[in-house]
Amino acid sequence: MGELPVSLVDGFGRAHRDLRVSLTDRCSLRCTYCMPADGLPWIPSADMLTTAELVRVVAVAVDLGIEEVRLTGGEPLLHPDVVEVVGRLQRLPRAPEVSLTTNGLRLPGLAAPLADAGLQRVNISLDTLRRDRFVALTRRDRLVDVLAGVAAAKAAGLHPVKVNAVLMRGVNDDEAVGMLRWARDEGLQLRFIEQMPLDPQHSWDRGRMVTAAEVLASLSQSFALSPAPARGSSPAEEWLVDGGPATVGVVGSVTRPFCGTCDRVRLTADGQLRSCLFAPDETDLRAAMRTGASDDEVARRIRACLASKRAGHGIDDPGFLQPTRPMSAIGG
Ligand code: SAM
Repeated sequence: MGELPVSLVDGFGRAHRDLRVSLTDRCSLRCTYCMPADGLPWIPSADMLTTAELVRVVAVAVDLGIEEVRLTGGEPLLHPDVVEVVGRLQRLPRAPEVSLTTNGLRLPGLAAPLADAGLQRVNISLDTLRRDRFVALTRRDRLVDVLAGVAAAKAAGLHPVKVNAVLMRGVNDDEAVGMLRWARDEGLQLRFIEQMPLDPQHSWDRGRMVTAAEVLASLSQSFALSPAPARGSSPAEEWLVDGGPATVGVVGSVTRPFCGTCDRVRLTADGQLRSCLFAPDETDLRAAMRTGASDDEVARRIRACLASKRAGHGIDDPGFLQPTRPMSAIGG
């Protein structure tokens, strides 16, 4: 592989290496903070990128300097071609690293084929280890299936298996220590993520959000935490647990924003490119491709999208507006 191009530099000098690709806006869970009980008006199937279109966008983006592709959603494992997508991305002349963020439910059947197709890593979302809470939080009685998914990911060698948890006040914020003990014993890398204003009800309340500082204070009562080596552009601040090798991450998207080192750009399942989760607008790559745009034109649109990227997510700005699409439609 030759020298990597760096043509995805935005107006603030940030080079973009990481593309988040949403495979679908649909999900098999109904997490209360992410989706209404009845789901959402789904993207019409005619508007979804085909597998060929999706692979084409990634191929163009990789030639512009993208090195890492994370498949997400919605629930990416609901996409019928997910194994094929991974395989085709791995066979690109400049193959990116491919990872996946999932609720884990389909991993027992898919972890091994995904690993064989070239998937490198997996992040599994899990907010509670208590069955009653899992049912209340996700509106589905599937904790046992997520845990089977974690085991399947480990068995398939998708190392390191990361677990992402969102703590919510009065809901599961008493589980930080228990979850870290479990993750350490299971050899998983746990990361706590601050809840962002992305819920469909627009009921996010900064004052009620469990902050990174609170998570760290709670963990510090039971574990000795020392800073792990520098995080680069990773959103997680990593800590060694009791001297290591176990680590825990805290993603303070709201109280400790990392926009200054952001290298991420997002492609929705209907082919819209977003320079940020909170970007006010999108760049329509689907329409471009379906009206005969060349790869050069697709590349020009990708660059133009990045050129308009804002300095920060703006959650603290007085005029902040939640994106019109929820997290599940943008790609978490
Ligand atoms: N279905 C996949 C999964 O469960 O990982 C991928 C999509 S899901 C939207 C990705 C992650 O976003 C999950 O870990 C979920 O907890 C997180 N998430 C959803 N809404 C959020 C919010 N408002 N703030 C922070 N994280 C959120």
